Amino acid sequence: MNVKLHLGIDDTDSMKGGCTTYIAALLVYEYSKLGVSWMDYPNLVRLNPNIPWKTRGNGAVSLRFEVDKSMIDDVVDVALKVIEKESMIDDENVDPVLAVYRGCITDELRRFAYLAETEVVDVEYALKLADSLGVARWVFRNPRGLVGALAAIGEDLRGDYTYELIAYRTFSMRGKPRMIDPGSVIAMDEATRGETYANIDPETGRILVTPRGMDPVLYGIRGETPEAVYRAHRFIKSYEEVERWVIFRSNQCTDAHLKSKRTISSLKPYVAAVLEGVVSDRPRIIPGGHVIFKLSDGTGTIDCAVYEPTGRLRVIASKLVDGDRVRVYGGVKPFDKGLTFNIEKIEVLEARAITRIMNPLCPYCGRRMKSAGLGKGFRCGRCGFRDRGSAKIEIYMDRDLKPGLYLPPPRAFRHLTKPIERYGREKTGGVVWFYPWHEP
Ligand SMILES: [Zn+2]
Repeated sequence: MNVKLHLGIDDTDSMKGGCTTYIAALLVYEYSKLGVSWMDYPNLVRLNPNIPWKTRGNGAVSLRFEVDKSMIDDVVDVALKVIEKESMIDDENVDPVLAVYRGCITDELRRFAYLAETEVVDVEYALKLADSLGVARWVFRNPRGLVGALAAIGEDLRGDYTYELIAYRTFSMRGKPRMIDPGSVIAMDEATRGETYANIDPETGRILVTPRGMDPVLYGIRGETPEAVYRAHRFIKSYEEVERWVIFRSNQCTDAHLKSKRTISSLKPYVAAVLEGVVSDRPRIIPGGHVIFKLSDGTGTIDCAVYEPTGRLRVIASKLVDGDRVRVYGGVKPFDKGLTFNIEKIEVLEARAITRIMNPLCPYCGRRMKSAGLGKGFRCGRCGFRDRGSAKIEIYMDRDLKPGLYLPPPRAFRHLTKPIERYGREKTGGVVWFYPWHEP
């Protein structure tokens, strides 16, 4: 008899990152050998990016397949072996957790995933939910990873999603510079533009598909469809061996964390939120080049911060004036005794008109006239024209800020940031298989 299995894996405290997806890639190979029938691509689920104790990417993975009931023990054994081996090669700060759920994903699990994407979820709650749903789990050191593992199971990506093809290096290459031909990345970016995202930062030319650091990822290509990321992958020239690659389905590039509109008075540390309000003082630039302004929404006021690495977003923020109506997307950070809202995106809803009262222009020579004295009208300093009847006029100043949505450059994107090209392309609906989706 076949059962539906959902495996969730998280390794919360790994500062080296990349490991969770690598474990998933190894398991895809092992389970394919076992002959499981896949219900989905492996899912790469990014959680609330504002959590301070997150790993670099705060990602967890899930694997979903049907398998004969008699094979469940084998499935779990294989997972534990792979996790143990991979955690050994990494440092002891890796706290992997494996969770195994049988059956169909419930709304309760989906709600849990949503909480983990947007708020702070404590382990106690995760343990309680796991108990009530009969989720088996294996905790190697710290149980904190259960939050991610359970969220990865619960996020079955029925809403918007994207794909990422991740290619991995061989063990002997880890820690060494990645040997990818940058020209091939540029060619790939041009050939797949609009179908793949954030390959290169356009302002700096920096290549974004290759991570830096120790993790086993050689490169990751994010895109709209499995065909697109596979085609992009075929463009990349690597001078080192690709040990394996897998296509993940993911909540990356979907703004999954930015779905809740909240009031300022309801904000708690580390939640992700969308706020709408009025700029209540002129932005100021603080040391480091960060821009800070106050936002009020009738329930309260909060300092909004736009950090220097967000490039042009900072320029936009500095053009705001009090009275402008904006919608801001980001996360709450505790700061001194209060809270600060770190902005990821700004939507200018209304740039209010700024007027200045000025003297009228001379109708003959166009020079701005001078006051001829109180109640005496104006006089032109160039041609001598006098006009007793004219009054000061109101001039509309050029705001140089148009209503619209503003994003940072791709180099400042979070994993969950929905790029501007994806607006209007949000997907729903089931899995469409593309082959090949992994190798080996
Ligand atoms: Zn004149």
